[in-house]
Amino acid sequence: MNACWVPAALRSGRKPATRPSCEGQGAVPSNAGGRKGRGGVARIARVESIILLDRYQLVRVHTTDGVAGVGEVSPMQVAVTHALVESALAPRIVGQDAADIERLWQRMYYGAYKLGPMGALLEAIAGIDIALWDIAGQVAGQPLYRLFGGKVREKATVYASSMKRGMSPVDEARRAAQFQEQGYGAYKLHSATPWMYDSGFDGTLKTVKEVRAAVGDAFDVLVDVNNAYLPHTAIRMARRLEELGVWHFEEPLAAHDYAGYASLADAVDIPIAAGEQEYTLWQFRDLILQGRVDIIQPDVIKCGGITEFRKIAALAQAFNKPITVHNTQPTIGTVAHLHLWVSCPSCIYAQEYNIEPHELRDHTPIWVEPVLVEAGHMEVPDRPGLGVRIDEDALRRLRST
Ligand SMILES: [Mg+2]
Repeated sequence: MNACWVPAALRSGRKPATRPSCEGQGAVPSNAGGRKGRGGVARIARVESIILLDRYQLVRVHTTDGVAGVGEVSPMQVAVTHALVESALAPRIVGQDAADIERLWQRMYYGAYKLGPMGALLEAIAGIDIALWDIAGQVAGQPLYRLFGGKVREKATVYASSMKRGMSPVDEARRAAQFQEQGYGAYKLHSATPWMYDSGFDGTLKTVKEVRAAVGDAFDVLVDVNNAYLPHTAIRMARRLEELGVWHFEEPLAAHDYAGYASLADAVDIPIAAGEQEYTLWQFRDLILQGRVDIIQPDVIKCGGITEFRKIAALAQAFNKPITVHNTQPTIGTVAHLHLWVSCPSCIYAQEYNIEPHELRDHTPIWVEPVLVEAGHMEVPDRPGLGVRIDEDALRRLRST
């Protein structure tokens, strides 16, 4: 099948405004260059990939009307995603109507399909897509959650996500108790070596026992082992963790082992959570149907942005699966998630919030009005778009490109 996406109007034989071929995916339409597109909406003038401290990536999309939206890219390998934004994606959307977000998403995804279709490509698309939604909200004069249908909850509940591995059980327990005192209702620990198939370090049971003793029973403990076990071990561990009152058991198996996930989910009652290694709607469909996990975990800065996240959320709702997002970036990514958390019926549980020190939040904040946690909750900004005003001085100081 031809990977080129061709709109129905072009297939119908009507004379196209741009060439209906894959070659034309990056072409600037003949009416580009004016300040306004169809319906008085501005066109994309420039896409700016911004690398901060050589390890974080923001994207700013500028319109011909002088509006700029900001997005974030998952910071896995910013040199790669920077090249994707600049070389593979920006040429495909510059000159296009900035309000046609779905069409632009299709244009980026199918136009650069062979560079993916998962991982870095979807992360790069996410940065641009979030920026386009930010523009849409600013143009509408509405916070993003209103564009998503408004709030189904007033504010978001978050859990304290400890990203450290190898802490002693006593230190991890002390840390969990500190965050409980700050008003959080849940804490997640990472207690095993990622992707080691039963052969790496594993401090899970000792640590959970110590944490449970420190925080009591009226506090949720979540365990993430980052793909550490084989299926028989995961089943045994899940039963022990259930006895210790653990709320969710995250990524016990290799992410691609959907059959293993299905046998695990069938064997135990503790909710099994997974999804941070999935990028597209189609992968989440397979994770739900084949892996039969209980909780799914998309990340808006990995899964192609707000456009794809909202489809995944609808899919989750159809299958009655709650969403507990993967959310490791406590700046733009968290704010994009916030608008989704308050408007998405499936985001019913506490959502992830990274408690480790973070340069862009704690040392040199990149925003004028920080969005922070109070007593385990976050308020969504009420300003138009994402509602984030970037501190340009901070950006200049941190900028690598
Ligand atoms: Mg995880």
